[in-house]
Amino acid sequence: MRAFSVALLGSAVLMGCGSSDDDSDKPTEPLPDEQLVATIRCSNVSIDQADKICSTNRGVAWGHLDENQVCYGAYCFEDHSPAPQSPGLTRFPEGHLIPVYMHKEVDPRFVRAMDRAEAIVGYPMFERHGVIELEIGNVFEIDYSGLPSDWGFIWSQGTTPPDCSSGTVSRYPNSISVTSYLANRNQGLVRNEPGIFTWINIDGDEQKAGEGCTVIASDDVTLHELGHALGMLNHFPGFGVGPAFDANAERVLRTMYHGQNPEGQPFDALYLPK
Ligand SMILES: [Zn+2]
Repeated sequence: MRAFSVALLGSAVLMGCGSSDDDSDKPTEPLPDEQLVATIRCSNVSIDQADKICSTNRGVAWGHLDENQVCYGAYCFEDHSPAPQSPGLTRFPEGHLIPVYMHKEVDPRFVRAMDRAEAIVGYPMFERHGVIELEIGNVFEIDYSGLPSDWGFIWSQGTTPPDCSSGTVSRYPNSISVTSYLANRNQGLVRNEPGIFTWINIDGDEQKAGEGCTVIASDDVTLHELGHALGMLNHFPGFGVGPAFDANAERVLRTMYHGQNPEGQPFDALYLPK
């Protein structure tokens, strides 16, 4: 896995993910419960430099929404309140279905990733709208007005920027500018910034791939990117460190979205399902 930082809005880090190293097939050790909590916390809201469980993919979690509706972080309160001092679990609320679109075609990997995520958490998360076609020549002027929602996820095949990644989550196709979400007062994620959608890009251009790089996403990489979009911001063993998405990543996602762990839940009070 390779991830690297870019300066953007003062706070952003690229979510570039792939399988260019040699560790991707080695299984990781199952996380003990104490480490599970610390892993969820560092992936979801912060990098804890002391224990180094997570590796930075997107270092800054909670930020501040400025008067121009720009969020300087991955999450901002939609009412412009400052970032919480010690944020709790930050995720989409159960029942708040995320509008999802597929750009140009139904790639079966998109469907399998959403099916797997919903099977892991045990309830519907997505409002599946099917295929759309947008003019993406100028990513800053994409016209979303024909869509039935003003936020959501857009799956897109072939629009991962040319480097060593096989998937990214970004504000635009063919882009490394990362997306942000707005939250209600309970730290529940409710939408994107105005005018922004979450592009989940799968596959890069094989002609432009770096030497030794894989730019075609496996099912696990596809689910990995969806995990990023759902609030697993930072990599950890089993999620981008080694395998793209193994049993540890599955347990993190299941715990984050468990009905007994609502948004805002303090991390030291997390219920840990087996
Ligand atoms: Zn990643």
